[in-house]
Amino acid sequence: ANTLSKADPELFSAVTSENKRQEDHIELIASENYVSCAVMEAQGSQLTNKYAEGYPGKRYYGGCEYVDIAEQIAIDRLKKLFGAEAANVQPNSGSQANQAVLMAFAKPGDTVLGMSLAEGGHLTHGMALNMSGKWFNAISYGLTDKEEIDYEQMEALAREHKPRIIIAGASAYALRIDFERFAKIAKEVGAIFWVDMAHYAGLIAAGIYPNPVPFADVVTSTTHKTLRGPRGGVILSKAEHEKALNSAIFPGLQGGPLMHVIAAKAVAFKEAATPEFRQYQEQVVANALVMARVLSEQRGLRIVSGRTESHLFLVDLRSKNINGKEAEAALGKAHITVNKNAIPKDPEKPFVTSGIRIGSPAMTTRGFTEIEAERVAHLIADVLDAPNDEAVLAKVREEVSALCKKFPVYGA
Ligand code: PLP
Repeated sequence: ANTLSKADPELFSAVTSENKRQEDHIELIASENYVSCAVMEAQGSQLTNKYAEGYPGKRYYGGCEYVDIAEQIAIDRLKKLFGAEAANVQPNSGSQANQAVLMAFAKPGDTVLGMSLAEGGHLTHGMALNMSGKWFNAISYGLTDKEEIDYEQMEALAREHKPRIIIAGASAYALRIDFERFAKIAKEVGAIFWVDMAHYAGLIAAGIYPNPVPFADVVTSTTHKTLRGPRGGVILSKAEHEKALNSAIFPGLQGGPLMHVIAAKAVAFKEAATPEFRQYQEQVVANALVMARVLSEQRGLRIVSGRTESHLFLVDLRSKNINGKEAEAALGKAHITVNKNAIPKDPEKPFVTSGIRIGSPAMTTRGFTEIEAERVAHLIADVLDAPNDEAVLAKVREEVSALCKKFPVYGA
């Protein structure tokens, strides 16, 4: 066979370097993970060659008998995993799943109410430069002084503006969300209640974070974060909304679905239904807790919201006189990967920020438990205490390298 190394050495080299980076660095980006070899095998399969516009049993192309099986397996497993009445596994990304919800339930100019990006929401929930903010009248709720979702503000805004859609879900919020409370106000004001569970989906599948599916009209998710599947999106809904959402994805927003990715999603959903996956998610939360505790109780850093109840948390860096951009760069030099992140009421610009976001899903997949999580937190703090000290950075890098070698991701 004409392998990638022979066919395209230049590209092969970039892939090999990325593989090595993933093995050699401690990955703390909260939205990333390492998929299983089975997921990658499905994604690298010949299903990438197949056009299958439409849905199982109702396609616009011939030869779909086997991809129909794959897509139906994915749909059935996803519905069972979260207890949903209907599912669409075709969205190419989380953002496209979210666009489909807007397309199915709102018209340009309609009011939508979501969580402010600056306080933890996602840009597809109404940020000014995103389609959700440009085409819709987006208003937003934020956090209280205790940095918890301001449910009262959200309810007051809902009553005042009578939005067409109310959105719950976040990209940088460490606590549990009270989905039932959102559902109540949505019902009261006649809004569609949409939850974007992208960040929490794996925890929810494992039963250790509240499941929004019983309360929401529609739930979207990515499949590649805590859920540990291939990059992509999904939509879950009540049966009454299935047709509108399916039409919004195809022909509304997409053409041919990525059948190889859908096959890989099916594999990930099977994995997510196992007792091992539940144990993994419990470890994810335990590791995040340990890191947040060490950083706050032993190393003098403030954790936004004061604690974490999930796989992630935000660190307020201001006590260390370093901004998010500098911290991300210094940690990167030490082979610890994080992303800078605005903290509530951040005085810095979004490209600088005063915080970093730390997540435990990827490091837990490679086998880190509380012992390693505690060390990782100290290594982070060592770098933040001396971001320009080359000797400190070298020492941390050495320990990171030893930890990574002890816990290979895909094997040596
Ligand atoms: N929704 C939430 C809450 C997210 O955090 C993200 C990704 O960061 C998305 C949607 C978008 O997913 P994608 O990057 O696949 O478009």
